[in-house]
Amino acid sequence: MEHHLIQQIFSPDISQAITNLVIHTREEDNMQWNLNNIGKVSVKALYKAKIENLYRNDHATRDWGALWSLEVAPAIKIFLWKCAHEILPTNAKTASILHYIDPTCKICKSGEETMTHMFLNCPAATDVWHHMFGESHGLFDHQTPFMDWFNTWFQHTSNGENMSTYATTCWFIWKARCDLVFQNIKPNSKKTTLSIQQHLCDYNRIQNLAHHALNTQGHISETGLQREETGFHVGIPRQKQDYGYIIKICTIQDPNSYQFFSALTVTDFAGKYVDNRGHTGQLGASRATGGGELAFAGLRKSIT
Ligand SMILES: [Zn+2]
Repeated sequence: MEHHLIQQIFSPDISQAITNLVIHTREEDNMQWNLNNIGKVSVKALYKAKIENLYRNDHATRDWGALWSLEVAPAIKIFLWKCAHEILPTNAKTASILHYIDPTCKICKSGEETMTHMFLNCPAATDVWHHMFGESHGLFDHQTPFMDWFNTWFQHTSNGENMSTYATTCWFIWKARCDLVFQNIKPNSKKTTLSIQQHLCDYNRIQNLAHHALNTQGHISETGLQREETGFHVGIPRQKQDYGYIIKICTIQDPNSYQFFSALTVTDFAGKYVDNRGHTGQLGASRATGGGELAFAGLRKSIT
């Protein structure tokens, strides 16, 4: 009878859990304190639970190293840093300080523009997530506050590549929102998705270019060593060979076209200019690599 009543009231999984409970018929019901294992009230356990909750998203205890070592462009790291501090100037955040500001989302006008709304629940954002990860991506549900999801990124270190993609996606959603607010450009989720994919592709290319240039640097110092052994010091003071060269690789991104440009400068250890190569215009892996090789070919020429 009771089973029947339970099944009527609760869903099958809950009624199953209830009917599986072992009932000690000779014992009276009593209250249990669930903040510790002994089941009895303890100020220490209450204090611990309160403190843990209070400092759940604490900035001082956050693993900032994980954020700064993420494989994303520097502009995205700074954006993430603002997210982590919950200081991204969304309308809701700004309205909490300046009361004449309207906290409503300018894109859908159907809620306050909090980080959770803007990144996870606004139709402009959900479309981008669907384009990027499929209709049933299951990355977050729409009850999850953004900060809770954001914090899980840094809990699994093996998650690096996904984290970079999530971070890049959030940054572009934020940029599309800013384009509407400041330039009145209507968000277009397909265009935003294409920009994200293009950016990720360009970023990977430039990382490969930088690795290539660093490997070539190793090759040069080897050549310098050989030359010293065989006594060829033409046109370069011996001291410079002992200390080698500093090769600086600078990469910047055009904020409008999102394309990367790289430049390579070679100086001696005193900072005196030796050589440089720049690479501007369209980024192509072969041309970029060629630029790096040319720079090193020029360097060899200048030291032999
Ligand atoms: Zn919205």
